[in-house]
Amino acid sequence: MTTTEAVSAASASIVRDEIAPARGPWSTIVAAGDTLTIVDLHGNQAVDTLIYDANDFGIRYSAAATISAQRNIFLTTGSVLRSDDGLELMTIVADEVGNHDTVAGACSRESNTLRYGHHTAHQHACVENFLIEGAVWGLGKRDLVSNINFFMNVPVDADGSLGIVDGLSAPGKQLSLRAERDVLVLVSNCPQINNPCNGFDPTPVQMIVTRPDGSSS
Ligand SMILES: [Zn+2]
Repeated sequence: MTTTEAVSAASASIVRDEIAPARGPWSTIVAAGDTLTIVDLHGNQAVDTLIYDANDFGIRYSAAATISAQRNIFLTTGSVLRSDDGLELMTIVADEVGNHDTVAGACSRESNTLRYGHHTAHQHACVENFLIEGAVWGLGKRDLVSNINFFMNVPVDADGSLGIVDGLSAPGKQLSLRAERDVLVLVSNCPQINNPCNGFDPTPVQMIVTRPDGSSS
């Protein structure tokens, strides 16, 4: 079954069907009730994601509020992505991977040089993607908070240490998020090549927004 068939089987219309290019940013508004499906086309591609209330960018995804409300640091089906004050932004309604990271953050030129050496100082990183795409919506560096890393495998050991290891995802695996209010979704399709988060080979992902048939939103 192709992705399009899977989506239409749920009796929904496609509002948007786009490719977030390898190493590049992407963003869109997802209306309340619509669903965003992210397809990891080639497997093991980290999709760094921030979410804002489309009508008030001051209301934004909070890792701390999301983790404390669900009492788990990993995201999967049923996880509600919340703002600082606990408002529901999006809910994961389907997930073929089972485990998405909330703690590892976004790569930056600064963190790359610290971890991997000064020769990485001029490599493109997620923070640059967020700033480029955020500028389209009037967002700047102060608006960047701790992000979600969809499809990224960051196990936490019993002693509390964490690592970025080979992904659990695979080509074609997908997850779907239902918007609980109108939201802006800001994505960096991670360009990192110094650790296994993208299998050392960043690849494109597919972004599909669908609307339930009969919905007027
Ligand atoms: Zn990154």
